[in-house]
Amino acid sequence: MIHLTGAAKMLSISPIPAFSDNYIWHLQQGDEHWVVDPGEAEPVVKALRGASLNGILITHHHLDHTGGITSLFKQYQCPVLGPASVEGVTTPLTGGGGVTVLGMPLGVCNIPGHTLDHLALILREPVSERSVQTHLFCGDTLFAAGCGRLFEGTPEQMFHSLAKLSTLDATTRVYCAHEYTLGNLHFAKIVEPGNTAIEQRLSSCQALRDANKPTLPSTIAQELATNPFLRCKVPEVIKSAAHHAGQPHPSTLDQVTIFAILREWKDQF
Ligand SMILES: [Zn+2]
Repeated sequence: MIHLTGAAKMLSISPIPAFSDNYIWHLQQGDEHWVVDPGEAEPVVKALRGASLNGILITHHHLDHTGGITSLFKQYQCPVLGPASVEGVTTPLTGGGGVTVLGMPLGVCNIPGHTLDHLALILREPVSERSVQTHLFCGDTLFAAGCGRLFEGTPEQMFHSLAKLSTLDATTRVYCAHEYTLGNLHFAKIVEPGNTAIEQRLSSCQALRDANKPTLPSTIAQELATNPFLRCKVPEVIKSAAHHAGQPHPSTLDQVTIFAILREWKDQF
């Protein structure tokens, strides 16, 4: 009989708000602390309340995800795991690889599109003898009900990156790096007015924001049901995208084209 670790060793994941709408995710297990995408150092130091930082994870090179690295490294000398392109990374990660973080396997997947160096970090937490809870740290690639802008990659790259993430377990918790959910759901509702799951999610997320609470994490199941960028083969989404683009023959449009139309539409939204 294998006994699970005691309550003191349970993993907790909480958001540290930064800038106007970023979340730095704080992973704590016992007295071990890691953070994901520290765009600034000060809120991390505050959240640690005198504890030491054991490591930093980075999803991509943008400054609002990396700006705190230098100062945190100076203070804690902890390892910094992330894309080799990011200054200050001590342990470069590459897609298909994996490392151990907090005693758990952390899978790494290349998800280019928002940037070319973007990584998905997939932590698998054993929650019983037989089951695992998956936690996805996806930076600015998959957002709650949306996706990141295409700063470096092509629509095709982003489409395939999102498709990879959507194959994770439906129960996977999705920790993206910005509180963009309400705006994304307002767009989703216009793309797919007949989808009642979007309406329901909008009212529950509105209630959370009214109470000044984060709308995250979401789950892959919620994203599959309400995120238009994961729903490029749904007839209503195809119809809306084709109408927006002035395409008279929706059936001739492939999923990448639908995705590209949605992304451009959202850029102007
Ligand atoms: Zn970014």
